[in-house]
Amino acid sequence: MPVHDSVTCGTGHGSGHTFLAVNSDVTPHRAVGHEPTAPARRALLRAGLTGAAALGTGVALGATPAAASPGAPSPHAGRRRPTTPAEVLRELTAGNLRWRTYREQHPDETPTVRESLTSGQHPFAVVLGCVDSRVPPELVFDQGLGDLLTVRTAGEVLDEAVLGSVAYGVLELGIPLVMVLGHQSCGAVRAAVDAKESGERLPDHIQYLADQIGPAIDHTKEGDARVDATIDANIRAVRSRLAAEPDLAAKVAAGRLAVVGARYELTSQLVHHIA
Ligand SMILES: [Zn+2]
Repeated sequence: MPVHDSVTCGTGHGSGHTFLAVNSDVTPHRAVGHEPTAPARRALLRAGLTGAAALGTGVALGATPAAASPGAPSPHAGRRRPTTPAEVLRELTAGNLRWRTYREQHPDETPTVRESLTSGQHPFAVVLGCVDSRVPPELVFDQGLGDLLTVRTAGEVLDEAVLGSVAYGVLELGIPLVMVLGHQSCGAVRAAVDAKESGERLPDHIQYLADQIGPAIDHTKEGDARVDATIDANIRAVRSRLAAEPDLAAKVAAGRLAVVGARYELTSQLVHHIA
């Protein structure tokens, strides 16, 4: 299926908008992938390697970003890698269209890709999603190995580890897009709403989630409508907090990063933009 089909197709839940149709604030600029020869970028990569090693997680985090070896062949042979925020959104939109129309391509799973990824990675999107088993980012965007750096917490709740993981993807791997991906019928959001209404304290650690989601609760609505509106408000709140991180904000200001909110509908399998 031609990728360009996706950008004009928006049939689904709600507005039916795809990202590109509504995402006017995303401005493509200089491609991140063209940066590795700059001294500052080299220093950043070195710092990244040092930081990863110090944490003892160099292997797990992918110790060798592909950008550090400009001459190396792409591990994703034959598949063009999106390098700007707009290109990434286009790819994710196309993948979601394949997913919700049962025309998945299951890219980047071949033996060749698996082998080549042992020497590095350069995922093109950070997706901060919910832990919900019905919303795995690689599936709903029809992406494969080495494509998405995914961080998942119940209700997309932030903490230091999540912030560090997102920052790693943006600052060390040079990823040009961060997406906060909430979803319809989020149990974490419902639990937060229910706890607030009942005054009942949740078990340890689950209460932390509710406390983080709490400020987003939409008190102008009732019942299921309140939960649904709070899902959107929580996405916006998390997106705003990420976008306000100084290192990320600087990248956004330079046009090298977009931080977007999105929501997955269980009923239609559509991912759409949350402004
Ligand atoms: Zn959820």
